[in-house]
Formats: sequence, structure tokens, C-alpha cells
Amino acid sequence: MSYVISKYLICVASLISLFSGFIACGADNYQADLKEDIVLTAQAGSDSNDYYGIHAREGWINLPIPMNFGENIPEKNREQLKKAIQTWELSVGRSLFSFEGTHAGVTGDSFPDLYSSLSDDFNSQYFDFNWDKTGKNKAVLGTTIWSTPFNTTNKIVTADIRYNLQEYLMGDALVDYSSESKIIVDLQSLATHEFGHLLGLAHVTEDVDEYSLMNPSLFIGEGLTTRIPSEGDVRRIQQIYGCIGDSCDIEATIEKIKEMHESDLDKDSGDGSNDS
Ligand SMILES: [Zn+2]
Repeated sequence: MSYVISKYLICVASLISLFSGFIACGADNYQADLKEDIVLTAQAGSDSNDYYGIHAREGWINLPIPMNFGENIPEKNREQLKKAIQTWELSVGRSLFSFEGTHAGVTGDSFPDLYSSLSDDFNSQYFDFNWDKTGKNKAVLGTTIWSTPFNTTNKIVTADIRYNLQEYLMGDALVDYSSESKIIVDLQSLATHEFGHLLGLAHVTEDVDEYSLMNPSLFIGEGLTTRIPSEGDVRRIQQIYGCIGDSCDIEATIEKIKEMHESDLDKDSGDGSNDS
């Protein structure tokens, strides 16, 4: 089996406030995207270095965050999305989300564009088979959009995540294959990144933390996953939501997350494949 090793762009978009209009992700290149995140972080306070990698330092206005699934997301993909959420919940030692179920009858393609999905009362994740409609570059894997209260960018009120099913296959990259026309993307890896944004994290450049889940691009292809947070990731999410009990021990917390994923890995490698 030959692995396709390529790092692809993940995008973050934000709706800064209901009154000041859109800050959209850079349309064509990821440098623009990255700069936006840094601008957002710099705006967060005078001591912005303390908040590097964070776009909403006070997090969500209310917890738990009610979360839904778009109608066309298959059950096995929902499990992968839930594991992405679990990674962040274990990182802070408490529950951050409540699952409300399916956003009935609604998919990413139900919306005329990217931002209109924010206008309903649902925080949800959507599979978009018509990605062009989001206005994003075809290469972008997924994107998170959120709204903030009118008077601060430090808090999040509502958010959605959109995944690019037009150009990519979303699944478990340890067991699923790319097709002739579409590369497999590890949905759990991508979703962990996007949920990082949804919770208030911004991009972290490779030169600052090369193992961060919040690097602005992701390795995609068969066998390639990025599911485990770096110490920096756990520290940054704890800056927003604090830590409870054992989760305050960051090294031990990462071990716990690895253990959580280990049973999946055992399951996945049961087919006799011995690639390393
Ligand atoms: Zn991103």
C-alpha cells in the first residue's frame, strides 16, 4: 500500500460579531487565514503573548454546548466526531457538550452559503457535498464558523462546523481507503482540529508547536492521523476552561487520551497490516 503523504489546508472562518460583519478565511491561501488568527489573538488583550493560539479566551457563554449532527452524517462518522469531542473533554476533565441529536432534514447543502448556517438556533456539524457554495477554496478540508456577542470577541455564542465532502472522503484513515478521485481524510483528526476552533483555540504554527492539533494544515491520506493533543494544546484549552482533578496533570491527561484511542487502534490493526 502506498501512502499519500500530503499536508492539506484546514480553514477557520469567524463571524466577529453580529454587527461588524464577516472576517472570512483567506480565499486562496492559508497565509491569510493564519494572519487572521494572529490578529484575533493580538486583539484579545495587551498581553497577547499569554493568549497565543487562543481566539476566545473566555470560551462559550454557556456550558454544556448543545451539539447536533446534520441529517446526512452516517452513524460511524458520528462516532468519530464524538471521539474528537471526547479528546477536548478529557483535556479539561469535564463534559463540555450535550448531544441533541440530528438537525432534522438539514445538511450543509441546505444553506445558500457558509455563514447562513449560523442564523438558526442549532450548533451543528454538516457534511457539504456542494462545497463550492461555501465560497471556500476546493482544497480546504473543513471550516468552523462562530458568532460572538456584539461587545466582545472573547466569548462564543453559537457555532457550526462544515466538512468538505465534495472533494474528500471522510472516514477512519487507518481502515478506509482513498478512491480513484478522492483522498481519505481522517475525520476524527480533522474534527479535533475544528472543535478546537469551536471551543476558542486559534491556529498554532509548526515552528511554535509542531505537534499541535491546531497547526493550520493536516496530513491526509491512508494511515495518517493526528488525533492526540500536544502538551501545548492541553495547556491552551485549560487556559480557557480550566482543569478539574487529574486533568490538571497535563502529561497524565495526554496518556489518558492516548489510552482512550488505543482500543480503536487495536481494532484497526487487526487486519494483519504491518506498515509502520
Ligand atoms: Zn484551522
